Amino acid sequence: MKKYQLMAPGPTPVPSEVLLAMAQPMIHHRTPEYEALFTEVRAGLKTLFQTEQEVLPLACSGTGAMEAAVVNTLSTGDRVAVVRAGKFGERWIEICKAYGLDILELGAPFGETVPAARVADALRREPRLRAVLAQHSESSTGVLHDVRGYAAATRGTDAILIVDAVSSLGIADLPMDAWGVDVVVAGSQKGLMLPPGVGFCALGEKAWAQTKTSTLPKYYLNLTEEKRCVAKNEAHFTPAVSIIVGLRQVLRMLAREGVPNVFRRHDRLARATRAGVEALGLALFAKATPSPALTAVVAPAGVDSERIVAVYSEAHNITIAGGQGEMKGKIFRLGHMGYAAEFDVIVALAALEQVLADLGQPVDFGAGVRAAQKVFADRA
Ligand SMILES: *Cc1c(COP(=O)(O)O)cnc(C)c1O
Repeated sequence: MKKYQLMAPGPTPVPSEVLLAMAQPMIHHRTPEYEALFTEVRAGLKTLFQTEQEVLPLACSGTGAMEAAVVNTLSTGDRVAVVRAGKFGERWIEICKAYGLDILELGAPFGETVPAARVADALRREPRLRAVLAQHSESSTGVLHDVRGYAAATRGTDAILIVDAVSSLGIADLPMDAWGVDVVVAGSQKGLMLPPGVGFCALGEKAWAQTKTSTLPKYYLNLTEEKRCVAKNEAHFTPAVSIIVGLRQVLRMLAREGVPNVFRRHDRLARATRAGVEALGLALFAKATPSPALTAVVAPAGVDSERIVAVYSEAHNITIAGGQGEMKGKIFRLGHMGYAAEFDVIVALAALEQVLADLGQPVDFGAGVRAAQKVFADRA
């Protein structure tokens, strides 16, 4: 028997107390029981998103919420700037293209970031820009972009800042209202420790104002209708009831730990993972600020990173992720977000040492684990 371990950058493991909560008999969503559940969930989501605004849960994956953000705030032909420094930046571009938007690409080589000064410069040059779209944590490269800087650049212009926080909500600090982020998009299956199936959108005042003139087509993802219902403590359509039940449990767990402690835990797990990987002589793919959600690692010269992913799975029953697009075969990605703790990092690194040895690479056994333990031992 080999114990199964899910260590991919999403979906992430679901805690047993959440699984048990979701295993209760189905309830109807137009009942006092659901209303009490949704009241608690709405309040918890506002705390987690650090906003006074309603957070709108949608029955779709994160990409559905990304699409909702675009179609509710923009109009055909609108000029938008997209931070393109990974596969998820490219997803913004694909969505914007699908809806006929006029795109200014702010690109950077994958593994790097786009500095806020470039966003500010683009906004100065093109005052007709209506939106800036970016990731907070770019899960394909393991880079954390400067959303605070992007928000400062966007403030006072006619553009709104739309941030994909699918792999940063509940992982890295993103105070929506305090930083002035206009739209935050998230999903259930990363930091929120839930099964996939719920996306979230939160819009600030400036973004809600822009929805009034938005002409892009929308029906299922009409956020104005959704907000009208959520304000009455209802969902517009049948919600993903079981996941919302699990979400209440997750919000209680996060509140118990304390959200600042949740961020600190992720930061420590990420630092330990990076230390372990580097101690094994491997290079980090991120050349800019690394994401606390996952670590992208460059495969050793001559080793196809898909082989590393395959050996993790076949020899150890551990799921990690490879590289996407142009990074396929070159990098592998270790997730340490959500229901992840110190000894999960130790498992991932101990397995990495064995995987490298299995692939004929020289390994100083224990070096990766030791470096991680040193990070954990330092409580400062
Ligand atoms: C996982 C993820 C998404 C959403 O992907 P779905 O498969 O649609 O849930 C979007 N952006 C980022 C940065 C992600 O990590």
